[in-house]
Amino acid sequence: MAYHPLDERSVAAYIRGRPEMAKVFPGGSPLAVREVGDGNLNLVFIVESAGGGGSAVLKQALPYLRVAGDSWPLTRERARFEAAALRQQGSLAPGRVPLVYDYDEEMSALLIEYLGSHEIMRRPLVARTRFPLFVEHISDFLARVLFFTSDLALSGVEKKALQAQFINPHLCKIQEDFVFSNPYMESPENRWNPLLDAEVRAIRADAPLKVAIAEVKESYMTHAQALLHSDLHTGSIMVNASDTRVIDPEFAFFGPMGYDLGALVANLVINCLSHFAHTPDPAERRPFQEYLLETAAGVWESFARKFEGLWIEAASGDLMPRGYWDFPGGAEAFAVFRQKYLRGVFSDLVGNAGCKILRRMMGIVSVWDITSIGDFQRRALPERLAIRIGRRWLLERGRISSIGDLLGIVREEARGSEEFS
Ligand code: ADP
Ligand code: MG
Repeated sequence: MAYHPLDERSVAAYIRGRPEMAKVFPGGSPLAVREVGDGNLNLVFIVESAGGGGSAVLKQALPYLRVAGDSWPLTRERARFEAAALRQQGSLAPGRVPLVYDYDEEMSALLIEYLGSHEIMRRPLVARTRFPLFVEHISDFLARVLFFTSDLALSGVEKKALQAQFINPHLCKIQEDFVFSNPYMESPENRWNPLLDAEVRAIRADAPLKVAIAEVKESYMTHAQALLHSDLHTGSIMVNASDTRVIDPEFAFFGPMGYDLGALVANLVINCLSHFAHTPDPAERRPFQEYLLETAAGVWESFARKFEGLWIEAASGDLMPRGYWDFPGGAEAFAVFRQKYLRGVFSDLVGNAGCKILRRMMGIVSVWDITSIGDFQRRALPERLAIRIGRRWLLERGRISSIGDLLGIVREEARGSEEFS
């Protein structure tokens, strides 16, 4: 079928025409279709069979960037990267992503499992809901996908063959521009709280900070460590009390592991700061903010532990072959290499988390945690803190050597706001 954008009326007929769909929607019951439409890039439809006989989500790429309108062309190949990444992640971390039922190259459409009992994580976090299994689930996802797509698990030939499937230049360019460059210079799509004009101007003219961001961008563009999700914020994670799923990996490519980890930590910290406005009562606010910081710490600590465990137990990659460490003192040398490697990943986490925080305060897309604070005056408090924290993470990343140091900066900056109510 030649490409054309679907709408609520045409989705059911389209699905009926796909032979793979008979398994998802057995029987001929009518399909109820509604567009979700809160995405930034694509059309997303929820499709449910009236007779309770199956459900799915249909996601279709448009030939432009939805958040910017049809004036901003964007290739539709992102649907292919999303389908390929979901399949790869699903095989390496089973149960942590929606199943892929069907992918249609011509229509740039994929049909995936409907997560009807899950919510996009930022929303319940604003409502102070805790997810006790989240750290366990997400650290599994990160450790397994990042480890098994790296040179630690794959041969050089396998790694490059996989990497070749994820050369994703146009979506990379979006992150390169909108995370690392445009927010910190004049660019027409930038948006920020007008009360923060002075802070935004100061960031744009902060020479050491600009050097730091350029260094982090260089690593994003060149350091092809593992298959990243590459947009792993709390709007790309769907949760409920017992399950965690990562969605929307259309930006997937081979980049530095710290980018995914940093995105997640930054978004947990943004949510934490947003409670200075969402939750005025300190007795309610402080324990939840503490929970979010402990969650961020848990993400890194569990990731590092599981990643190293996989490395010790399942190292089959060319970096390095087992025999390489087979000499007197080799076990210790291997341990030193592992620690150095993980320190490098952590350092990338810090730099990327800094950029991820800053760009949400002054770039093209903010986050609902912040924009749902209607009053600009109230919003300015978490935003100012976020800018101070993001800036410090970037400038001090050379001496931030543990997750405790990183979150210590959040605590230090937030302490100054305790009088806020
Ligand atoms: P985009 O790439 O356009 O940003 P997303 O993949 O983030 O689109 O999806 C947009 C919204 O659609 C999500 O925020 C979520 O509310 C809903 N959604 C996406 N995938 C699913 C799914 N598998 N099950 C239920 N809802 C989903
Ligand atoms: Mg998306």
